[in-house]
Amino acid sequence: MMKKILIADASKVSRILLEKILADTFDIISFSSIAETIDYLKKNSADILISGFELSDGNAFKLAELIKINDILIPILLITSDPKTISKYDVYSYGILDILTRDHIDENIIDEINHIIELYSNIDLSNSFIAAIDDSKTQLYFIENVLKQTKSKYFLFENPREFIQTLPHNKPDICILDVYMDEMDGIEVTKAIRKFPELKNTRILIQTSARENSLLRTLMIIGADDYIIKPYSTEELLLKIINNYKVKKLNDELDQINKELFEKATTDPLTGLYNRRFIIQQLNILIENYKRYLTPFSVIILDIDHFKKINDTYGHDIGDNILISLAKILKDTLRKTDIIGRFGGEEFLCLIPNTPAENLSLIISKLLNNVRNFEYKHNDTVIKFTISIGCCLFTKKYKSDNEIIKCADDMLYKAKNSGRDQAFLHIEGTELNIV
Ligand code: GH3
Ligand code: MG
Ligand code: MG
Repeated sequence: MMKKILIADASKVSRILLEKILADTFDIISFSSIAETIDYLKKNSADILISGFELSDGNAFKLAELIKINDILIPILLITSDPKTISKYDVYSYGILDILTRDHIDENIIDEINHIIELYSNIDLSNSFIAAIDDSKTQLYFIENVLKQTKSKYFLFENPREFIQTLPHNKPDICILDVYMDEMDGIEVTKAIRKFPELKNTRILIQTSARENSLLRTLMIIGADDYIIKPYSTEELLLKIINNYKVKKLNDELDQINKELFEKATTDPLTGLYNRRFIIQQLNILIENYKRYLTPFSVIILDIDHFKKINDTYGHDIGDNILISLAKILKDTLRKTDIIGRFGGEEFLCLIPNTPAENLSLIISKLLNNVRNFEYKHNDTVIKFTISIGCCLFTKKYKSDNEIIKCADDMLYKAKNSGRDQAFLHIEGTELNIV
């Protein structure tokens, strides 16, 4: 389908000249007045508007303003025979993308128009959240006019402190940030944003004037992502927003993928506990910490008693459910700082940091009891089971992860041989039986 161009110009000759160049490539509708153009745009859409400066009932700025007021999203180009008489900044601040010079109109303009149409049709910022912080009302108004065209959710702040107070509850995808503000400057605001880990992917877009080079360096070092030099056009800001939003989305996706990969690589799919590899890694970290800071920790190995019987009697699926239930009991009984893993089969390994011997025996008693008191209900039958536990407090005599695991394993073996449903605890040369 051909893209639709709206031409608005008081002069019929100008309109026809432009139509001639564009008619092969685009659908063209043309009007001579602001009123007709607005009326048309309220009821229909078009891909781009090319307006002459003079219209029969006002000028292009008035037209652009009415387009904004009516919340119409359309890229606007201004065409004039004398661009020098019009301030570029005025043009931009009315939301007009660019000025075309009448004498220079040729086939190249088709590429330019297509490029702008393409740019606009790719704007999908409807799920984005943008915050603009600037103590100049005029600048905020200008930014708002751009943001209005993007369908993004946005907040404007004249006072940077008020903005900071909304964090981290508010999670903007992009912060458009002014550098010089009385209340709190852009550097302070950038630092404040970067204090929140949950805002690490938030893009900080600095607006500045080209002279502030060293300041820009500082800003980029402390965590700003991008900058835009004032005065900038609507299109420049739009491009910056689109590109930064893309990067923000990509980084969010990457975080999500990394999170999923990490979970896959570290967890046991059946119980959701850590897997053997991860728990061994964590054990080695604890050993290193012990060597450096003498941070005490213990290793618990526990194993379901006669689990084979449960499988044989009730089936493998029920066996699986029992493993899941035990994982939950372990999570509920141990602390958040303890590291709980499935070591393999029906054997679990827990790392218990910073716990003195007397508390350790309390924890172990609690574990034995919580498992004893647990009932797994399957149809009309209630399945109960017990566990045996081996535990060993780490000391400098252990030279590796294997040595401490072997000690805990030996204790588990003792518990099994002493009749199961009990624990053996090894603390600096002494063995403690907990029943
Ligand atoms: P003990 O008291 O000496 O530990 O006896 P046990 O029967 O628990 O020990 P054994 O090592 O003889 O049997 C372990 C059983 O655990 C055998 C195996 O089929 C079962 N098992 C291992 N992994 C899983 C699993 O993921 N799901 C189920 N349902 N069973 C498992
Ligand atoms: Mg067993
Ligand atoms: Mg076993």
